[in-house]
Amino acid sequence: MRVSKFGGTSMGCTDAIQLAREIVTADSTRRFIVVSAPGKACIYSRKVTDLLIEAYTQLCVGGESSSLELVLDRFREMAGHLGVDMEAELERCREEVYIHRCQRDFIVSRGEYLMALMFAKVTGYRFLDAAKFMVIKRNGKIDEVKTAENFRRLDKSQSFVMGGFYGRAAGDGVKTFARGGSDYSGAVVACMLDASLYENFTDTHGVQSANPSIITDTKTVQFLDYNTLYKLSLGGAQVIFPECLPLLKKYNIPLVIDNTFNHGRRFTAVSNDRTHMPFFSITYSGIRAVAEVLIVLNHIKLEYDRLKEILKGFEVYVSMYKRNEIRLITAGEEVEEVVKRLHAYLIL
Ligand code: ASP
Repeated sequence: MRVSKFGGTSMGCTDAIQLAREIVTADSTRRFIVVSAPGKACIYSRKVTDLLIEAYTQLCVGGESSSLELVLDRFREMAGHLGVDMEAELERCREEVYIHRCQRDFIVSRGEYLMALMFAKVTGYRFLDAAKFMVIKRNGKIDEVKTAENFRRLDKSQSFVMGGFYGRAAGDGVKTFARGGSDYSGAVVACMLDASLYENFTDTHGVQSANPSIITDTKTVQFLDYNTLYKLSLGGAQVIFPECLPLLKKYNIPLVIDNTFNHGRRFTAVSNDRTHMPFFSITYSGIRAVAEVLIVLNHIKLEYDRLKEILKGFEVYVSMYKRNEIRLITAGEEVEEVVKRLHAYLIL
């Protein structure tokens, strides 16, 4: 069984959801789907989760919430286009949100909850409420023992849709992971069910040689090991929620980071094995005063003198120089230019 997770853009509007449904139904082993709340997509300029955070602040002071209404309207509109009826679920959700008006995590998680209900109707899969299965510890990580017990009770012959990002606090009540945590939910399920594959469907072409929002001719890294991707994620690569990686590594579950909008063409496969294929990836973090650039190299050489020559004219301090890993410190305002210069050299 595969566990397939669809991110916020993939669930953001009717066209994207139809694509996700096609992907799910194209392979009968895609039997456990984890979804994010709708993100920015098509005509929608705001993420549902951001609106729900706003709804919580409006409601907890005792008022009505215009942001909650925007969320419910968006679901109503998407359901209409998809030809599924969500009226009863949306009405019940509104009532429950008003009842839990000062429970932030309950309100903020309703995007994933409603999206899972809707995608279950779209696919004909069974809806699972993450609050009944995922047990989250105080430190925001999954309680593997209690969650495994819950998943043991699941009838594995069926197909399911579950919302990511939330679960139940070890004490009681709904609790969310950190922002972006739906990836982590998907990873947890994949580990609990000993999945043959964890597929993470994003809106980018997997792990790339650099941030595609600043560089146009990036290459996708085809194979990668967990340790390297973890390092890149902590170094600023935003392709996946970092905490997924140690977990998937521990349970030895292979991961594929694919693109809903270009499925099966440019994607990254991640496992515990190091690859012999050459690749590089550059990432950076801390763009204010001081930024750190991380260059990961696999079977590609970048000599120290050459590095200095490429970066001539920039104020750069090399804080680490190893065969597979180079770290640089530079001024925040120069970091994108530094990355562009390095990428232009390495891509050749
Ligand atoms: N919807 C949540 C967020 O926007 C969680 C996620 O998308 O992974 O952060």
